[in-house]
Amino acid sequence: MNKITILGSGTSTGVPILGCKCQVCQSNDVRNKRFRTSAVLELPNDKKILIDASPDLRTQLLLNKIDRLDAVIITHDHADHTHGMDDLRPFGLKSKKALPVYSTHQAAHDLKRKFPYIFDRQQYFSNKVILGGGIPLLDQFPIEEGMTKILDHEFEFFFMPHGHEETLGIRHGKLAYIVDCREIPKNITDRLSNAELEIMVIDCLRPTPHQTHLHLELALDYIQKIRPKMALLTHMGHEWDYLELTNELRRRGVKNTFPATDGASFLYS
Ligand SMILES: [Zn+2]
Ligand SMILES: [Zn+2]
Repeated sequence: MNKITILGSGTSTGVPILGCKCQVCQSNDVRNKRFRTSAVLELPNDKKILIDASPDLRTQLLLNKIDRLDAVIITHDHADHTHGMDDLRPFGLKSKKALPVYSTHQAAHDLKRKFPYIFDRQQYFSNKVILGGGIPLLDQFPIEEGMTKILDHEFEFFFMPHGHEETLGIRHGKLAYIVDCREIPKNITDRLSNAELEIMVIDCLRPTPHQTHLHLELALDYIQKIRPKMALLTHMGHEWDYLELTNELRRRGVKNTFPATDGASFLYS
């Protein structure tokens, strides 16, 4: 079996939002505390793959006792998914081996501009030596849509629209991980509905429509089309109180869908 652990289920601000006095941000329910969206996959040959390097990464890895990683997938290059990149530094210092980082070509290009000392290190350090605590050892592997082997495991990647960018949708075995998208194109819903998914983690920012994200109505629509055994809503804002959202799902008669919570793990084949 494989395992997914939700490291973060919150939107780009996290929940609570700094300075916000709303009921959810002030709530004592731990299920309303959301780090920025990310996850880790643990595969049977003891390989661990991180999905997204959120700004909360260090805390997320400590809380979930992840002390080793074998690869990283970046869904897209927005701040809430990449600005924890430097937190990956200790892994390279220990192993002296570069971690592979998989992303779209566009995200690889943008990350190189954003983090030249990491992803363009030969150029960046061409006329100076590295002093001090070292740099994160990460190597980029831009990928195409379709199947890609990561650490001897088959992954399927989809490109999905997200504002001016594209986000990588991920399928591994009977798991799909779909965040930060405005829609899921029909060819992708068709492919996923044939995959007999056990778990689908899916973007569900808020109750009302948004320019670059799925909202509840759309997310439920896709869940109905794709028919996973279980769906987990993620990338949630402070509009969602855990219990209220759970009740809303039950009221609508939706039985296979739950709000994700930080630190929760699920097995899939
Ligand atoms: Zn995001
Ligand atoms: Zn709030």
